Amino acid sequence: MRPLTCDVAVIGSGIGGASVAAELARDCSVFLFEAEPTVGVHSTGRSAASYLPSYGGEVVRKLTVASRPLYEALSEWLDRDLLVPRALLWTVSDAESERAVAKLLGTSSHLVPLDTAQMVELCPALRPDRVSGGALDESAMDIDVAELHASYLSALTSRGGQLHRAVRVRQVVATSGGWRIETGTIGDVFCQKVVDAAGAWVDEVAVASGIPAIGIRPKRRTVFLSPHQLADRAGSWPLVMDAAERWYFKPEGPTMLVSPADETDSVPCDARPDELAISVALDALDDVTSLGLRSVTHSWAGLRSFVSDRLPVVGAWPTTPSFCFLAGQGGYGIQMAPALAILAADLVLNGTTTSRSDAFGVAPADVLPTRLTRLDP
Ligand SMILES: Cc1cc2nc3c(=O)[nH]c(=O)nc-3n(C[C@H](O)[C@H](O)[C@H](O)COP(=O)(O)OP(=O)(O)OC[C@H]3O[C@@H](n4cnc5c(N)ncnc54)[C@H](O)[C@@H]3O)c2cc1C
Repeated sequence: MRPLTCDVAVIGSGIGGASVAAELARDCSVFLFEAEPTVGVHSTGRSAASYLPSYGGEVVRKLTVASRPLYEALSEWLDRDLLVPRALLWTVSDAESERAVAKLLGTSSHLVPLDTAQMVELCPALRPDRVSGGALDESAMDIDVAELHASYLSALTSRGGQLHRAVRVRQVVATSGGWRIETGTIGDVFCQKVVDAAGAWVDEVAVASGIPAIGIRPKRRTVFLSPHQLADRAGSWPLVMDAAERWYFKPEGPTMLVSPADETDSVPCDARPDELAISVALDALDDVTSLGLRSVTHSWAGLRSFVSDRLPVVGAWPTTPSFCFLAGQGGYGIQMAPALAILAADLVLNGTTTSRSDAFGVAPADVLPTRLTRLDP
């Protein structure tokens, strides 16, 4: 049997791996490996599906804003809206959230400061005696994550790339011309470059390839759905987020989607919801809203994976240019995926940006793994 070969092997088919594989397949042959029999079962399938341009560090915000026209182009191509408007209300209820909103207003010039009456007009469930103003991000949206993810996988295969499900990459061995990937299920695959896009498992894959771990820290976040008293008029309400990020909620059909915004260190795993965090969030929302949230109809959790500066890690390992990362997307991996995929494909293929990714305003040094050698662990 002839050995399987490709130019680039991408490991992990969440939104990171799927999107960069699709971009790379424009220029070279690509295999995308997914350990699970079904795609999108880890972080990508567990998100809150929000596009929040004022959320995250500067690099994240730049990539999120740069993704907006790319989302629009994809929506036109699919003849289906991937983004649907849902504003974001950053909410102040104490000194900590007041400081946080002041910082947000300083970093995102498109945010509009609001007083309490304006906040309550936009979300009538907020208690005027508990909320003291906030800020409005009108450019926020809901994302059709399943459609976005499916569109990248379909672009990959239509450009000649291959998706291999239920294939866990076990070992990656350097050869004279590139890499030999040991899968166990489909045998060995030979390629010139590897992209490690394994989400919470990114360090496991790096170490199995003889590359140092980048210090990924998977952090569990819980989400739940709760029926509420105002369901008949809540559909168009904004996403309401505590400015100090201790909770957020947004309408989801007849229920409210709520997160306690927990960030608990975890090993890479099939994350489970934190019951205590759920009950703390119910109490907090009882205090600041009249939603009357009592029961939970469904709950889930996923891992948001960060390195210490909470910015994405993209491009080649400094001493091994044929081994690249696409990792550390934290809580922003969907909203910035379209621009991040183009930037990552440029860094994988050329080692630097091209005119297309230059326009995003992100310097390669901001995302390349080289910077990690200068950071505190
Ligand atoms: C509760 C929650 C809410 C969130 N809300 C938002 C939001 O509103 N907006 C937003 O932009 N982001 C949000 N995020 C963050 C976003 O979901 C992540 O940043 C993004 O999904 C990360 O994608 P990924 O492809 O890196 O990881 P994953 O989706 O986890 O994909 C990694 C894949 O690699 C595979 N894999 C691992 N090891 C191997 C191996 N050895 N061989 C083959 N395959 C392997 C895994 O099976 C997995 O499918 C949220 C996250 C959580 C948990």
